[in-house]
Amino acid sequence: MNTQLKDFKEKAVHKRVEDIKLYINGEFVDAESGVTFENINPFTNQVNNNVAEGRAADMDKAVAAAKYAFEKGPWGSLKVSERMNYINRIADLIDEEIEDIAILESLDTGLPISQTKNMTARAAENFRFYSRMVQAKLHGEAYPVDNEFLNYTIYKPLGVVGLITPWNAPFMLETWKVAPALATGNTVILKPGELSPLTANKLAEIIDKAGLPSGVFNVVHGFGETAGARLVEHPSVKAISFTGETTTGSTIIKNSADSLKKTSMELGGKSPLIVFNDADLDRALDAAVWGIFSFNGERCTSNARVFLHKNIKDKFVAALKERVANIKIGDPMDPSTELGPLIGKEHFNKVKSYIELAKEEGCEVVQGVVPEEVKAGNFVPPTLLLNATNDMRVCQEEIFGPVMAVIEFETEEEVIAAANDVKYGLAGFVWTNDIKRGHRIAHAVEAGMIWINAQNVRDLRIPFGGTKASGIGREGGHYAIFEFYTEPKVIHVALGDHHIPQFGKVKK
Ligand code: NAD
Repeated sequence: MNTQLKDFKEKAVHKRVEDIKLYINGEFVDAESGVTFENINPFTNQVNNNVAEGRAADMDKAVAAAKYAFEKGPWGSLKVSERMNYINRIADLIDEEIEDIAILESLDTGLPISQTKNMTARAAENFRFYSRMVQAKLHGEAYPVDNEFLNYTIYKPLGVVGLITPWNAPFMLETWKVAPALATGNTVILKPGELSPLTANKLAEIIDKAGLPSGVFNVVHGFGETAGARLVEHPSVKAISFTGETTTGSTIIKNSADSLKKTSMELGGKSPLIVFNDADLDRALDAAVWGIFSFNGERCTSNARVFLHKNIKDKFVAALKERVANIKIGDPMDPSTELGPLIGKEHFNKVKSYIELAKEEGCEVVQGVVPEEVKAGNFVPPTLLLNATNDMRVCQEEIFGPVMAVIEFETEEEVIAAANDVKYGLAGFVWTNDIKRGHRIAHAVEAGMIWINAQNVRDLRIPFGGTKASGIGREGGHYAIFEFYTEPKVIHVALGDHHIPQFGKVKK
């Protein structure tokens, strides 16, 4: 065992994962009902710890605390620079605990430690980015009207906002919502994915340590149908930012209608990666393999459908087979592991059932091999579905695992039509050295985000999100702060004695 691995394993083993409570009004508390649920480790399928199960009563308590903190607490009256000191302090504390957070994330999700370490570093940057963004950019506009009026806008926080997150890349996704929500002056209730509560609890500990006033940030663990549903319907919650499955997003929109909430939806995907015969095939190969097999394939923007031009298909497929055979499957705590176990047994069974379906639909299935010593975990090996056609269910439905469907194409028109013939529209990737074609494809593929000759490289300033069944609204950059977490208020100022109609002044 190399020393680095031994180091991580010892830390992980010796780290007793404490049971987790809810974080409400600045205190770690049990659920009102006293009920807990078990949090299972995807690598061992043993219990990591027990988690307090928040339900409607706990959610109500958290909302009341957040409402008080927004309306009467000091949060709303802080100077921006003081608020940003808190935001930057959170980032510094994340940096101090990067290793611990990465270990917890890997224990909880099965994501390889080398990948969770990168994500944690990015999570700290989420807070710094929004601190800079709010200070530099969150200002309104002035609209002078001749010499009669000066109209101007200011941007106000919404109040209590609810953040509902999934289990894939939880710390990254949670901080991406929490950072802009707090930086713009809202108070927050986070309902994390029930399968990945550990780092949300860590975030609560960090925010507690950063000294934010009570009630500004709250975490209510629990299930979607109870805790999540109450957050969505609660009349005092002004907005819900949701990341998760398309069907859940649709339920949330329906359930939030009675209280007329603002919602933001980051949903599923089935993104195409298109490789033309003139592309840099070595780089395209690296990107295609990383894009579906990193994060254990549990990545919303993964290139689940790979379209290969017929002239390069055989060569590319041969190289894919070689990579799939070599991908290192193993213990998520091993820094050399490239692919870890899937989040839970239910998801594992779902992904496996799609691989069986692929065979029935006529695909040739090529897979890596799961080593015998890790068979207790929820491992699905890296999988290629060869000879796929776009109309197959395995090409239409989100599998959300390490499964790449490979589809041959001949013409540009044909591949655009196939890429778009799917209900999702989150991301797309095109590989070509023809600059005109690259742009043409990028414009034609129905997706919120397209990369030309690149994998999914993050830029915090860009609008992140999808079209069609992949979402409504955008996160990231100034989109988060202007379009979601604040509202413009316009103030009309009369500069002189402009005309006012004088109803009732003339005697009848
Ligand atoms: P999910 O929809 O099952 O759950 C997400 C969250 O919603 C969880 O916290 C869950 O408890 C909660 N929830 C479930 N039912 C609810 C309800 N009725 N009311 C309120 N909350 C409810 O999703 P998941 O399986 O945890 O995550 C995987 C999905 O997330 C995939 O579809 C993936 O593509 C998507 N995702 C999208 C993005 C993006 O940015 N577009 C990013 C990551 C993941």
